[in-house]
Amino acid sequence: GPGPSPDEPAAAAGGEQAGGDQGGGDQGGGALPWPCDVVVVGSVNADLVVRVDRRPGAGETVLGSDLATYPGGKGANQAVAAARLGARVSLLGRVGTDAHGRLLRESLERDRVGLGHLHETPAPTGVAMISVGPEGDNSIIVSPGANARLSEQDVADAGELLRSAPVVSLQLESPLPTVLAAARAARRVVFNLSPPAPVPDELLALCDPLVVNEHEAAMVLGRTSPPAVQARELLGLGPRSVVITLGADGAVVADASGVTAIPSQRVEVVDTTGAGDGFTGALAWRLARGDGLAAAAAFAVRVGAATVRRAGAQSSYPTLAEVEGS
Ligand code: ADP
Repeated sequence: GPGPSPDEPAAAAGGEQAGGDQGGGDQGGGALPWPCDVVVVGSVNADLVVRVDRRPGAGETVLGSDLATYPGGKGANQAVAAARLGARVSLLGRVGTDAHGRLLRESLERDRVGLGHLHETPAPTGVAMISVGPEGDNSIIVSPGANARLSEQDVADAGELLRSAPVVSLQLESPLPTVLAAARAARRVVFNLSPPAPVPDELLALCDPLVVNEHEAAMVLGRTSPPAVQARELLGLGPRSVVITLGADGAVVADASGVTAIPSQRVEVVDTTGAGDGFTGALAWRLARGDGLAAAAAFAVRVGAATVRRAGAQSSYPTLAEVEGS
């Protein structure tokens, strides 16, 4: 099973076994007695999901299904995906002092995500209000709430943790100055440019890799082209490496040594929610363990494939045993 929470002192978690049994080496050691493989800086949301036959127009009311509440947010999703694989993960984020915040904290604790830097803030916990149409199509309104209060000071306060981890994983559901500060402090940055928005060249130059799906790649580049071309063009924007996820077609990776296609196995798709976050969490962990980019992406594609075979986001993330058995 997963190792103990990385924010707990090793002694309290069983001495020698403190890193879990999944390896990871001592890359994250530094001054910390409880090294981390991956620090995720990012969002924690409650996903509020209602199924509808059709969406309401302005001024209109429609009736939907019972409300379902799931743990979500790109940051939390990435952290849970990596932790479930056995990674020692710490999550730097903010939740509110409300019921959603308590629910999400408990859920992350069950997945042994380190929460020493998950702060509480007097604002509503972030929520994603999701309506699911008859074709399974999602419409989403995100209210960032506490996530919008994740500050550069929070990053500074976690400076030692960020500098000690072999990989820091970032997304854009947190304020850009906060993301940039975390990238500056990190030894290696995995950055999922999602939701897509303009970012400074300095941030792009720190990415190793920049991770996007095809749509995000097209938005960043301002046009569509074949994935291998997109990968080279994104590399031209300054990151040290690039990963483009391609849904059922796996992924393509690019760095100074060239472009490599990473095919996926064919699977029966149940629900693709959170697939990209699961992919990125897995990728970050394998890079932290010392895998090369193509090997890490090949593993992450297997995690992505396992993820789409089950419903939900965090509920769909596999254990290492499940990935290796697939
Ligand atoms: P996002 O979830 O950000 O839209 P993708 O759709 O590219 O990103 O999915 C991310 C990863 O999840 C893919 O690289 C792949 O590993 C896996 N995946 C997604 N859709 C499928 C699918 N239909 N079949 C197999 N794997 C999939």
